[in-house]
Amino acid sequence: MNLKPRFLILAAAIILIASGASWFAFQRIAEGIIEQWGVRLVETQVRYDSARLLQPLIREIALSRQMAHSQLIRRWAKEPDNPAYMQEAITEMETFRRNFQDGSYFAALRASGAYYHNNAQNDYAGRQLRYHLSPTTPSDSWFYEIIRQGREFHLNVNKDEFLGMTKLWIDVLIRDGDETLGVVGTGLDLDRFIRDIVQLAQPGITTLFVDHNGAIQLHRDLRYIDYASIVKTDGEKITIDRLLSDGQDRTFIRAAMRELAGAGPEREHDTRVISRFVTYEGKRYLAGVAYLPELDWYEVTMLDLDVLMPLHSFTSVLLIFAATLVVALLLFNYILSRWVLNPVANLENAMLRVRDGDLNPLALPPAKGEIGRLSGHFSAMAESVRSHTQELEHRVAARTEELHRLASVDPLTGLLNRRGFTERINAEVKRAEREQSRFGLIWIDIDEFKQINDFLGHSAGDEALRSVGSLINASIRPYDCAARWGGDEFLILLAPCDHDTLARLGERIRNSIETGIQLADETSITVSVGACLAGRGDAMERILQRADKALYAAKAEGRNRLRIADDPEARAEPA
Ligand code: GH3
Ligand code: MG
Repeated sequence: MNLKPRFLILAAAIILIASGASWFAFQRIAEGIIEQWGVRLVETQVRYDSARLLQPLIREIALSRQMAHSQLIRRWAKEPDNPAYMQEAITEMETFRRNFQDGSYFAALRASGAYYHNNAQNDYAGRQLRYHLSPTTPSDSWFYEIIRQGREFHLNVNKDEFLGMTKLWIDVLIRDGDETLGVVGTGLDLDRFIRDIVQLAQPGITTLFVDHNGAIQLHRDLRYIDYASIVKTDGEKITIDRLLSDGQDRTFIRAAMRELAGAGPEREHDTRVISRFVTYEGKRYLAGVAYLPELDWYEVTMLDLDVLMPLHSFTSVLLIFAATLVVALLLFNYILSRWVLNPVANLENAMLRVRDGDLNPLALPPAKGEIGRLSGHFSAMAESVRSHTQELEHRVAARTEELHRLASVDPLTGLLNRRGFTERINAEVKRAEREQSRFGLIWIDIDEFKQINDFLGHSAGDEALRSVGSLINASIRPYDCAARWGGDEFLILLAPCDHDTLARLGERIRNSIETGIQLADETSITVSVGACLAGRGDAMERILQRADKALYAAKAEGRNRLRIADDPEARAEPA
């Protein structure tokens, strides 16, 4: 696999692992933030809800207490059969009725069991005595239970069978010293109350109120309300325990309730909100518990943080995170290509060029760091290979030329050898053919050379050959050329040439050898010379034959003389 996909896979893997870890950490942090925020929120929500509950109730409770403390009512409660007292008490109660929010009141007297009531429509004016309570009637048991418990004030959610409505009743005892004379108070329409206070339109928030027993008094789901809680045994009550499936959650709520209400008769109420996560209806909620001393109730508010602050509200953060990853990957790719992969590719191309024999100077784009240095070294290496190759080529060419020269030269005399001379004579034949020029050929053979070898030795023979060679070389014109044809035979090519030049040069050479060389025995060397003229249409073999023939004639005529072959063109002229 190439470097690029490997690097990209590696980078993607690193980024993914880093992202996973970051996402994990981010979730933990986000959850922590949500939790902290949730605790604050539950506290605020609890205070807000309890204020909303108390605000309408406190006034009604205060009015009910005033009613229970009214001198006129207490006097009547002590003597219910006194018509004057009754009339004044009813007038007093009607005054209270107009002040109550519900526009209704009730008064139940212990002595007679008489139950008085009038409503907002004033339907029962003049007949406020509605009926008589009886200890044996179950629907009246609330009255006897309130008196039995002796609690000065009590809130009771109950259906009134007689009135046919469900109300949140505010019950206050009428007392005279230790004696309880009856119960007075008012009621609030439960449906409206629930709608206004408990049934908040806020999704994710569940608020409920429980009494000191944990029995549910207000809940947006009316089925959970423990109606007429006061007359029920503990087993019959619908308590908060029923909402919580987890035993630990139930223990927590109970402990919080005890802690908040304080202990002993001089109870110091705790105004804190105690919060903790609980499981409600199969989901995790943050529950906040607060005590409402005015009502001797507890408020329990449960927040579904997944609804109030779902993790997907952090989606934008996640998107930014993902976008950052993509940008980082692209940037990495760009930088990798620019700094590493492109320089490496350039270097590879340069290497391929060099491998394929292209040694022209490399123009590698500049690169930094290690790759830059590598490119520099490679350029230097390629340059060195190039100069070495060039030098080698020069040397080979020179050597080849030298070899070629050596192949054409006679080592003893330094004149051309047979091969070199053949090339020259062939070239001259072609030139004569082309330019219609004429040239001369002289063939020289040393006379009685064997005797020199025989009498003076082979090296003296060699020395004689060298002397003849150098004399010949000195006698010819610069543009002529001489060769040792083999043994004691020499050839000279004269170009251009005519008959006179041929005769003059042939004779000069013969003479200079005869007079110019002296052997060890003080004798001289003589040569026989055969010559001929050649021109257009003469083949090399034919020319050599003619010169050889002339030489043969010179030898035959007694040696040490020049013989020139008949010139066919000269003979043709006179004819
Ligand atoms: P002629 O006058 O008829 O030419 O008689 P010659 O003795 O010169 O006879 P020829 O030309 O046939 O003999 C040439 C001799 O040259 C024969 C050989 O021994 C001798 N020779 C050939 N090459 C060399 C050489 O390189 N060095 C020496 N020292 N002798 C050579
Ligand atoms: Mg000879």
